[in-house]
Amino acid sequence: MTTVIDGNEIGDQITEGVAECTETLVNEGVTPGLATVLMSDDGASETYVSMKQQACAEIGIEGYHYELDADEPAETLFATIDDLNADPAVHGILVQMPVPDHVDKREVLERIDPMKDVDGFHPENVGRLVSGNARYKPCTPHGVQKILAKTGIETEGKDAVVVGRSDIVGKPMANLLIQYGSGGNATATVCHSRTDDLAAKTRDADIVIAAAGVPEMIDGSMLTEGTTVIDVGINRVDADTEKGYELVGDVDFESAKAKADAITPVPGGVGPLTIAMLMYNTVKAASLQSGVDVTLP
Ligand code: NAD
Repeated sequence: MTTVIDGNEIGDQITEGVAECTETLVNEGVTPGLATVLMSDDGASETYVSMKQQACAEIGIEGYHYELDADEPAETLFATIDDLNADPAVHGILVQMPVPDHVDKREVLERIDPMKDVDGFHPENVGRLVSGNARYKPCTPHGVQKILAKTGIETEGKDAVVVGRSDIVGKPMANLLIQYGSGGNATATVCHSRTDDLAAKTRDADIVIAAAGVPEMIDGSMLTEGTTVIDVGINRVDADTEKGYELVGDVDFESAKAKADAITPVPGGVGPLTIAMLMYNTVKAASLQSGVDVTLP
C-alpha cells in the first residue's frame, strides 16, 4: 500500500507547536512580528502574501503588510526594508518574489537584516546553511525535511534525487539532505534542465524530490518500486473548472503512486508546510532577537 502523505495534517502539527512558542513569547512580553512587502500586481503573489498574513493572525503573530506600486523606483522598496530593519516590533521581513524587472533581486535579498531574513535567502544565511550552521532554513525545503521526518522516512544513507536547482528550493534542499544529523546524511544528486537522461537518475533514487515547475513531468516509468516521491511543484494548467485552471504538481500522481512507497499530493502535500515553516522561522527570529528561549517543534 502506498502512503499518501497528508501535508495539511503535518502542517497543522507544526503550526500547533509554533503557536505554543508564540504564546510563551507573548507571556514574556514579546509579540513575534512578521512584515510582508508586496511590489507586484501578480494575482498569485497577492494570494501567497494574504495566506501568510492569515497564518500569522491564526497563531498570534503580529502581521504588518506593505504594498508598493510595481512601477515605483527600487529606492522606495529599499527605504521600506531599511525602516523594517530598524523597527524592533518586526522580527521577520519577507519581500514577496518576484519583484519587478527594474529592481535587482539580489540587492533586495542583501538589504534585509540577516537576523530578520525569515526566508533564509540572504547570503549570510545561505552560507550558514551550507556550512552546517543554519539560522533560518528556507521554508519549502525545510518543510520537505519535516514531511520526511514526520512520515518516518529515513534519509541517512539514502540516494536522493532533487529535480531543480533554484536558489529557493532545489539547491537548499540538496544542501539540507547532505548535512550531518537527522534529516540529512543522504547522498544527494541535483538534476536540472541540462541533465542528461533524467529518468536514469530518478530510477536509481530512493527519494525523488521534484521542484522543476513542469506539470507532471515525472511519471511512474521514471521510478523504481518503493521510492518516496515528494512533489514540490505547483503548476496552473487549463481545466474545465470555475476558475478555468487546476493545480497540478511536477509528478504524474496516479502513475507515480503505483510505484511509490509514499507520495505527496498536489495540492495538500508540500504547500501547507511552506507556510508553517515561515511561521516557525518568524518565531525563531523573535526568540533570537529577544533572548527568550522557546522549544520549536
Ligand atoms: P524555478 O523555475 O526557479 O526552478 C526550476 C528548476 O527546475 C530549474 O533549476 C530548472 O533547471 C529545473 N528544470 C526545469 N525544467 C526541467 C526539466 N525538464 N528537467 C529537469 N529540470 C528542469 O522554480 P522554483 O521556484 O524552484 O519552483 C519549482 C516548482 O515548485 C514550481 O512549480 C513552483 O511553483 C513550486 N514551488 C512550490 C512551493 C510550495 O510551497 N509547494 C514553494 C516554492 C516553489
